[in-house]
Amino acid sequence: MIRRFFSYYIPHKKLFMIDFSSAVFVAILELAFPLAVQWYIDSLLPSGAWTLILSVGIGLFCLYLVSTSLQYVVNYLGHKLGINIETDMRRELFQHVQKQSFRFFDNTKTGHIMSRITNDLFDIGELAHHGPEDVFISIMTFIGAFWIMLTLNVKLALMAFIVIPFLVWLIVVCNLKMNKAWKKMFSRIANVNARVEDSVSGVRVVQSFTNEEFEIARFKKDNNEFRSAKLGAYKIMAYSNSGIYIMTRFILLVVLVYGAWLSLSGELSHGALVGFVLYVNVLLKPIDKISALMELYPKGMAGFKRFTELIDMEPEVKDVQNAIDVSYLKGDISFKDVSFSYDNHKPVLQGINLQLHAGETVAFVGPSGAGKTTICSLIPRFYDVDEGSISIDGIDIREMKKQSLRSQIGIVQQDVFLFTGSLRENIAYGMLNATDEQIKEAARRAHLEDFIQSLPEGYETQIGERGLKLSGGQKQRIAIARMFLKNPPILILDEATSALDTETEMIIQQALTELTKNRTTLIIAHRLATIRNADRIVVVTENGIEEEGKHEDLIEQGGIFANLHRVQYQK
Ligand code: ADP
Ligand code: MG
Repeated sequence: MIRRFFSYYIPHKKLFMIDFSSAVFVAILELAFPLAVQWYIDSLLPSGAWTLILSVGIGLFCLYLVSTSLQYVVNYLGHKLGINIETDMRRELFQHVQKQSFRFFDNTKTGHIMSRITNDLFDIGELAHHGPEDVFISIMTFIGAFWIMLTLNVKLALMAFIVIPFLVWLIVVCNLKMNKAWKKMFSRIANVNARVEDSVSGVRVVQSFTNEEFEIARFKKDNNEFRSAKLGAYKIMAYSNSGIYIMTRFILLVVLVYGAWLSLSGELSHGALVGFVLYVNVLLKPIDKISALMELYPKGMAGFKRFTELIDMEPEVKDVQNAIDVSYLKGDISFKDVSFSYDNHKPVLQGINLQLHAGETVAFVGPSGAGKTTICSLIPRFYDVDEGSISIDGIDIREMKKQSLRSQIGIVQQDVFLFTGSLRENIAYGMLNATDEQIKEAARRAHLEDFIQSLPEGYETQIGERGLKLSGGQKQRIAIARMFLKNPPILILDEATSALDTETEMIIQQALTELTKNRTTLIIAHRLATIRNADRIVVVTENGIEEEGKHEDLIEQGGIFANLHRVQYQK
């Protein structure tokens, strides 16, 4: 874990070296100062050489100037190093999440993902800056001070150090406890985030059910749990800080009292006693630093551990070696004995066999929950089949580069996701480098032109978060315009018009008919009128594909489809 953490320093090794060596230099100057004072009191003062005293003073001042500028470097460049590492990790995590497969998002709360990317990494930067530096400097100062104290007076040095083992024990015990406490705190704040994300994005549902109080109560519970977790951690911290404080004061006391006694009995010069007291202060600094690290380390590491947990999750659907780049598919799709389940115990699809010819429009009908959407999700490899295979133009889709496969497939669903931004940006999502002309052409073919021209700001109109300012039909047409830009040979229309009223559906139907031209189209629809013109109809139920054929033929057969048809038209 630690080695992995250090690997993030590699791109910033120059920065680290500058920061680190400056910090070491500052520490050396601090170690030397009490020695200078002792020499000053014991040797320089009695000599009464004023010019020397003055020049020593000036010399010391210059050293302090050097030390100050080095401290500036440590403060600024050190933090820069930390922030750089934090930013790298955040970027890596975001990239990684973007690559995850659908099953990951099925099983992970959005709020938890947000937490990992934001909060969990807050302390990493501080740890990255202070961690290695402070540990090294502390050990160096500690050993240095101890060694100098031993050379000044062995008895007093040993006496002062009696407390140290207790101090170490306290730090270790508290460290372990804090580790647990911070971990708990992180998982609790993730819950708070998940709750916020849920009820804010669902706020319209919340308010329409007037369930605000219910949501507030749920939030309060999560928030309180977070509070007690964080408080628990602070309690341990306060306890350990007090322990450390009293032990360190005890050292000072021992030095003062025992040192006075040694001094009176002539074993210790006055200068050495002053030096000793100053060294106790030098000694306390690393202890301060270590106890600050004691807070920072478990916090940062708990976050880092959660970071690596996510980073180590391999996307479920990924490219094989030497995957084939398929930029120009015709669109012959074939399912061979395909079986699939979402959770490995309840099969959704079993032994599905299906042929779609390039350019053909095939409609899927059947009860909801039968697996129509699932069939369509398997084609772009949102999920991989458990058994059997799907091939396009004779190539197994698992042999294809995932990105190239998906670039050949367009999907229009019932709810269209629009991004915050302008109409233009949202249409251009189908082809990021589209020219204005291309965007206009796509809008025209999606029958959006009149609507856009009626807006005072036209294409630059901001559509509000997730397109809340648009009607269902308008959103649907934006989705269609995106498809004209993307221009894929394979098209999936999953209940694209189901949420619309019949009149709007008619208008959109024209756009859709044009869109399906020369593409292999899979269309799922409730209203059978929508699919009257399909080349073929496939009836899917829980038992799999039950009927397949042309509209008239199926009606004639008098099976499930004929039944559905009768129910819809004879009311
Ligand atoms: P249809 O589109 O025909 O209404 P779906 O393909 O959406 O049916 O769903 C088929 C079955 O798979 C249903 O029982 C549904 O509950 C289940 N299902 C759909 N999506 C998921 C998912 N992401 N995770 C787990 N189960 C799912
Ligand atoms: Mg569906």
